[in-house]
Amino acid sequence: MNSQNRSLQASGVSKSFTSGDVTTAVLNRVDFAASASALTLICGPSGSGKSTLLAILSGLLQPDAGDVHSLGTELSSVSGAQRVDHRREHTGFIFQGFNLFPALTALEQVLLPLHYLGMRGGRAEDHARAMLSQVGLDHRLHFRPAQLSGGEQQRVAIARALAKRPKLLFADEPTSALDSHSGAAVITLLHGVAKQHGTTVVCVSHDPRLIDHADHVYRMEDGQVSPRCPDPGQTQ
Ligand code: ADP
Ligand code: MG
Repeated sequence: MNSQNRSLQASGVSKSFTSGDVTTAVLNRVDFAASASALTLICGPSGSGKSTLLAILSGLLQPDAGDVHSLGTELSSVSGAQRVDHRREHTGFIFQGFNLFPALTALEQVLLPLHYLGMRGGRAEDHARAMLSQVGLDHRLHFRPAQLSGGEQQRVAIARALAKRPKLLFADEPTSALDSHSGAAVITLLHGVAKQHGTTVVCVSHDPRLIDHADHVYRMEDGQVSPRCPDPGQTQ
């Protein structure tokens, strides 16, 4: 990967969590880079720190040590408010648990980030409908999360993250609630977003089916990230 086009770069990132007397080191001086127009996948077993790393790369969580350069901004050197602005303007995040609002319909979930960016009225609604159509949910626009299947909720979360056409798109286990056909459709969609819009897509997953669809594959193990997945069969 040419250092010129690295839109996201982490160096020496460490993170520990303390519960009571026990401190667990989750990330141990992680180095990682991702570039625009590519889908970069980090795979690794459950509990290996994938969600923690994604939260740090996206600016949601601060590391104990190390740097994250995101689109030219060093995230630890700016204020919390500036990090929030950076995320709102440039990043979409597909959460592992979807993080949908129980009271909002699918259409309203997708409209929300557009409103935060100042897009309102018919233009916002047309755009939100188009994003939901792109994930095959034209027939579920007015359904709330409790009325949707897990896979449908996941696709709403994806449409919401894509709606503002973010420069950086983070996806935490984006296929975990999907059957293999829907999972393949979702990863093809994320790959298409990277290629068509020049988006930096970073995806973490324990799902080995994603490996064939990624431009770059990293493996997370023992608190560190190394290029490539040595054995996709061992990623559960
Ligand atoms: P993965 O996404 O690969 O399953 P996580 O990043 O969610 O892994 O978690 C890595 C480790 O860090 C796990 O052992 C988990 O229990 C621990 N961990 C994650 N978040 C917290 C937290 N907020 N407090 C304490 N421990 C945490
Ligand atoms: Mg996780």
